[in-house]
Amino acid sequence: MAYLGIPKNTIEILQKYNFSFQKKFGQNFLIDTHVLEKIIAKAEISKEDMVLEIGPGIGTMTQYLCENAKKVVAVEIDQSLIPILKDTLSDYDNVSVINEDILKVDINRLVKEENDGKPIKVVANLPYYITTPIIMGLFEKKVKVESITVMVQKEVAQRIQSGPGTKDYGALSLAVQYYAQPEIVANVPPNCFMPRPNVSSAVIRMRLHETPVVNVSDEALMFKLIKASFSQRRKTLTNGIHNSSELSFTKEQVAEALVQMGKNENVRGETLTLEEFAKLTDILKQCEE
Ligand code: SAM
Repeated sequence: MAYLGIPKNTIEILQKYNFSFQKKFGQNFLIDTHVLEKIIAKAEISKEDMVLEIGPGIGTMTQYLCENAKKVVAVEIDQSLIPILKDTLSDYDNVSVINEDILKVDINRLVKEENDGKPIKVVANLPYYITTPIIMGLFEKKVKVESITVMVQKEVAQRIQSGPGTKDYGALSLAVQYYAQPEIVANVPPNCFMPRPNVSSAVIRMRLHETPVVNVSDEALMFKLIKASFSQRRKTLTNGIHNSSELSFTKEQVAEALVQMGKNENVRGETLTLEEFAKLTDILKQCEE
């Protein structure tokens, strides 16, 4: 078995198939065995697990996943990689490759069909141009997932993990933290990839909450309020919500709600915790009724 984490083997395969990298698909393949081993360890993959891999590329991480998991389903958009994956994964009988755009796959159905509806683990070195839609899609569609361990741009990992009052805190931090507990488990420099990306990367593991960390009367309204609060960073939360085209609260209603919560009416969104956004939602929801 030629492990592709060894750069010489990756180069050989790329030459054998005369493969040319497609920038539009965010193709940066891993060529570092230590990073690969770390991802598998931090994702806590065992022979009990079904793993969904998004964007297997030439199968570098897939080889590790096949050796450690019960079953692997890998979804790859680039048709030219399919014959390569057939070759590099030929030693494994616990993998299926789907040639599809992950954003178009019915992952709930996949979990039902491939894992009897039991929670799966998602592991991926994500294509960076669609990091947020992929992660948020898994959460919002309520896919049965135990954990998501993914390589993303370092800045995105920092945003996901940030708390109130920090410069990176925003709608993405709150959205992820509503569903899961995020933790950066590795920092990965550009020289671990072929070709080298222009940015630094990090692996972030998100363990889904077993029970919700906050209770809120209207989830969709809370996310609209969060989005509006961060859409104009230097504005007050009251103005942000009032100016949102998706919401129809008056400045007075928002100010009154903040005062009820013991907050100053001129606060900015970045000072509120998830619990406080939930509370704000509950109060404003009553104005709608
Ligand atoms: N897993 C491989 C590795 O670590 O070496 C490749 C990672 S590379 C950063 C991202 C992979 O995602 C590429 O193989 C790319 O073709 C694939 N990809 C890009 N957009 C995709 C999409 N919408 N659906 C599925 N795969 C996609």
